[in-house]
Amino acid sequence: MDFDEPLMEKQITESLKSFPVNVLKIYPASFSILNGLTYGLIRTSEGRRLAVMGEKESLLADPFRGEIFYGSSALKICDLSADNTEALMSLFPYTRPTSVLKYRCTLGTGDRLGVATPGHIRAVRKFKALPVLAQQSVRENTQTGRDYRGVIRDAAWAVFQEDYRRGYGADGDHLKSLPEVQTALDAGVTMVTLDLSEKLNPEAFHAPADWVESKFRDEIDEEESKVLLHLFLGKEFHLRSPQGECRIQYSEEEVKRNALLYHKAIDFTEEVYELIRSRSGHPSIDFEVSIDETPFPTSPGNHLFFIIELNHRGIRIDSLAPRFIGEFQKGIDYRGDLGAFREQFSQHMVISQYYGHKISVHSGSDKFSVFPDVGRLAKDGVHVKTAGTSWLEGIRLVAFKDPFLFREMHRVALSSFKEASKLYHVTTDLRRIPDIETLQDQGLPALLDQADPRQLFHITYGFLLNAKDGDGKSLFRDRFYQTLAHHEEDYWSLLERHIERHLVSLGVEEGEE
Ligand code: ZN
Repeated sequence: MDFDEPLMEKQITESLKSFPVNVLKIYPASFSILNGLTYGLIRTSEGRRLAVMGEKESLLADPFRGEIFYGSSALKICDLSADNTEALMSLFPYTRPTSVLKYRCTLGTGDRLGVATPGHIRAVRKFKALPVLAQQSVRENTQTGRDYRGVIRDAAWAVFQEDYRRGYGADGDHLKSLPEVQTALDAGVTMVTLDLSEKLNPEAFHAPADWVESKFRDEIDEEESKVLLHLFLGKEFHLRSPQGECRIQYSEEEVKRNALLYHKAIDFTEEVYELIRSRSGHPSIDFEVSIDETPFPTSPGNHLFFIIELNHRGIRIDSLAPRFIGEFQKGIDYRGDLGAFREQFSQHMVISQYYGHKISVHSGSDKFSVFPDVGRLAKDGVHVKTAGTSWLEGIRLVAFKDPFLFREMHRVALSSFKEASKLYHVTTDLRRIPDIETLQDQGLPALLDQADPRQLFHITYGFLLNAKDGDGKSLFRDRFYQTLAHHEEDYWSLLERHIERHLVSLGVEEGEE
């Protein structure tokens, strides 16, 4: 911000008054002067708009498209369209996403609704951490009816609104196919998270030894099999890092099981890696590989096998998301043996530090009981993804501000839970959810502090956003977004508090680096 805020706010509000535009609010942090023009975000009765003020001639030469009003000076009101977003990113380069994973502590915030990012920024900017503000999976985009371009556009305008200049990432999360990776890259993501769950063969870990023998002979060609046995057999891998050490040995059977488990996934990772590298003028893309949505935890032995294979093929990844021991369910705290988690996490850290990639903690929202260990063991670098909390805090806001709407949404969430639980792994017990007909309005927000109601809402977002009445009109979507917009500062405060709690619990230092 280039201005004395209260004075500037008054001046801008005054000068806007001389134009026939219904200004409901200005976003003071966004205002700045460039090439003799004043730029800033405002809210009109039509929604958020970019205001450009100055001399008529300069205004005509300015790249943003919009409606121009003339008075003693001139004012241009521009919508936040795709073209104007391009102009924004050229004029204000810090609004363009960039590679951030090299930074020590990074946090994926994931703005499911496209209106939460200012709250995320207000939290993260206080800490020595960089955010991946635009982070959505294909599954989320399908449920919310958004696409990667739109996701990045929403983040860019929020960055402008908050005058946040330290850089942020855009993650195409849980991409499962080459076309999905292509689409996300075309839209401008700066991070690819490749989901390998469909390329893994978990049977390789439970099947009897003779199955492994014959399958290995069938699937792995002779050349590759020689290489694998040479890489892994008869060695002790002894890795050390400041956080501890880790010793791993593989039997021949273990090598074969790991090979069967991962070989298709590794081939696919190689394909995607080549695709990313082949793109003309490819800016640096953070490349993450996720094996977190698998039916069993990733052991340090699995991790090491996988990374040695990638290295051997010359594939560099920036982060790996293992599945940890215990339960990392969406939107609620960790469930499982803390000691076992700590032990395994520290082994994963040793491996990742040795090979120079980060550990990425998926479904990281609300894992407050493991954060202190994660933060301590991952001092030298970690990526934590929280997803969907922006939606849950939105629901909390509705519980505060519009109990009637909340009750209606709660009813539909209950009736769509069964269908929604096919998409997400949760252990919600609907019987543990209080009967809300018996609750007073002021008791509703506290539901969002309980695991079962949280998960109920966490996974039914698509059903709620897409629910229609008898005439095909949206049942909740418009009212929900209106409530968020109407109380946006309250919404952003809830988000700020929530994300801040994550960073404090992870032990991330305050301040800028
Ligand atoms: Zn994940």
